[in-house]
Amino acid sequence: MELEGTILAGRDFAAVEGRVVVEDGEIVAVEEASVDSDDIVLPAFVNAHTHIGDSIAKDAGRGLSLEELVAPPDGLKHRLLREADRTALVEGMRRSLSFMAESGTAATLEFREGGVPGVEALRDASDGIEIDALAFGRDDPDVLDVSDGYGASGANDADFAVERGRARDAGKPFAIHAGEVDATDIHPAIDLDPDLLVHMVHADDEHLARVADDGIPIAVCPRSNLVTDVGLPDVPDLLAHTTVALGTDNVMLNSPSMFREMAYTAKRYDATAVEVLRMATTAGAEIAGRNDGLIEAGRDANLLVLDGDTHNLAGYRDPVRAAVRRAGASDVKRVLHA
Ligand SMILES: [Zn+2]
Repeated sequence: MELEGTILAGRDFAAVEGRVVVEDGEIVAVEEASVDSDDIVLPAFVNAHTHIGDSIAKDAGRGLSLEELVAPPDGLKHRLLREADRTALVEGMRRSLSFMAESGTAATLEFREGGVPGVEALRDASDGIEIDALAFGRDDPDVLDVSDGYGASGANDADFAVERGRARDAGKPFAIHAGEVDATDIHPAIDLDPDLLVHMVHADDEHLARVADDGIPIAVCPRSNLVTDVGLPDVPDLLAHTTVALGTDNVMLNSPSMFREMAYTAKRYDATAVEVLRMATTAGAEIAGRNDGLIEAGRDANLLVLDGDTHNLAGYRDPVRAAVRRAGASDVKRVLHA
């Protein structure tokens, strides 16, 4: 099959007029040609950090602090989760995953609470939906028998040495929140030799030197940090030190729309649209060890087609800036999931 239009090809998303040729779920060629199409073809998104378990608590808790909102065991999120039955929780996650798939997300790195049953609930929720919901389980080292990785809450909560070792033995990634409310848990998190740090709002030069030396990627969630009022990560500084990917964090706090996360990030920071699109696609794919997030021959054909002639996008001047700063779920024409 072929997708025609303006193709955002390669690591730099160079706009190529022509077509992407796909065979058996793999991109086999990007061909330059004169085509009659307003479509913009880009890699599907990889959301580098979500908690979709709180899909039943959308926009609850106006005015509460981060701790009052989401800290276990008595934060509002956890009280609402305890009150909900499993069917409602799975259905809530299923609706969120469906929206994410429809709005162009190929995969999500989901931090899943609740040990093995939590991971099993995510598997049930994602069954039949065209999205790879990667479960970073927690709350039980045995979760690594069924999860795709371990997603630790933060180094001030426990030492996580056992979980870190189990993840290494299982050949699965170990990810951890760090530097969300303050800097006290950043060095201890880096000491665990993680495969991914999440947030890093309060990272300083010393932390980032270690991150660069160890080649540790970072997932940032700027809209979440905005809502919880913990400060904002210095995205350009993080980009200067390592791979940085975008995540939408808790569904309770924000819609899991990568379009919204990109637009906010692009407008809030001195980062180019190319850098932000890379944070939403290639970076997350690299972190998760995936063969997508990039349009070139040999990659998995997880692709997103925007209709460049919607009322919203018609007349756009720059396809990358249009995709990053302006487009939304209603401009999605097609999502290909290999
Ligand atoms: Zn998180």
